[in-house]
Amino acid sequence: MDLEGLQQLQEVDIQRDQAKRELQAVLDQISDPPFIGQLEAEIEAQAEEARQADHAVREAHAIVQTAQRRIEVTDNRLYSGSITDHRTLEELQRDLYAQRQQLPPLTEAETRASNDAELAHEAGAWLQQLRTNALDAWNARQSELEVERGDAQERVDEFSRQVEILRDKLTGDDLAAYDQYRRRRPRVVATVAGGVCAECRLTLPTIVVTRARRGTRAVECPSCGCLLRVT
Ligand SMILES: [Zn+2]
Repeated sequence: MDLEGLQQLQEVDIQRDQAKRELQAVLDQISDPPFIGQLEAEIEAQAEEARQADHAVREAHAIVQTAQRRIEVTDNRLYSGSITDHRTLEELQRDLYAQRQQLPPLTEAETRASNDAELAHEAGAWLQQLRTNALDAWNARQSELEVERGDAQERVDEFSRQVEILRDKLTGDDLAAYDQYRRRRPRVVATVAGGVCAECRLTLPTIVVTRARRGTRAVECPSCGCLLRVT
C-alpha cells in the first residue's frame, strides 16, 4: 500500500473539502434582497398617504378661496354705493364681519394640511432613500460575493486537478480502500513519529509500530482507526 501517496492525496482532499465549504459559505450568502417586499409595501402605503394629504390640501385651499370670494362679494356689495338702506348695510357689515371671523381657522386648516402633506412627502422620500441605500449596499455586497465565489471555485478546481494527478499515480486497490476509509473520516493516513499517532496523539504499543514499519499490510491506529505510516 502506497501510504505516502495516499497521505499526499488526503492532504489535498482535505484542502479541497475546506475550499468547497468556503465556496458553499459564499453561495449561501448570494441571495435575493429579502427586505425589499416589505419596504415596497411601506413606500406604496406612504405614497397613498401623500396622495390623500395632497387631496386634503387642494380641498382646504378651495374652501379658503370660496370663503375669500364670499368676503370679496360682500365687500363689493357693501362699498358699491348701490345699497343705501341702513338696515341692509348693517346686515352686510355683520355678514362681512362674520365671514372675516371664519377665515383664519380656514387658512390655519389649509396651513396644517400643507404641513401634513409636506411631512408625508418627506417620509416618502426618506423611505425611497432607504430603498436606494439598501439596494446599493446589497448590489455592492453581491458584487463582492461574485468575486469571492469565482476565487473559491478556482481553488476548488485547482485542488480537483491536483487530486486527479495524485489519484492517477495510485493503484485501484489503494484508491478503493482510501475512498472507503474517507467516507468515515477526513484523515485516512496518520504519520507515526516517536511512537505517537499524529492524528490522535496516542502513544502506540511497540508491536503496532513494528508491524506498521514493516509495511507488509495496512495497520490501523487502535484509537482513531487511521492507517499508520511510520516515517
Ligand atoms: Zn490514532
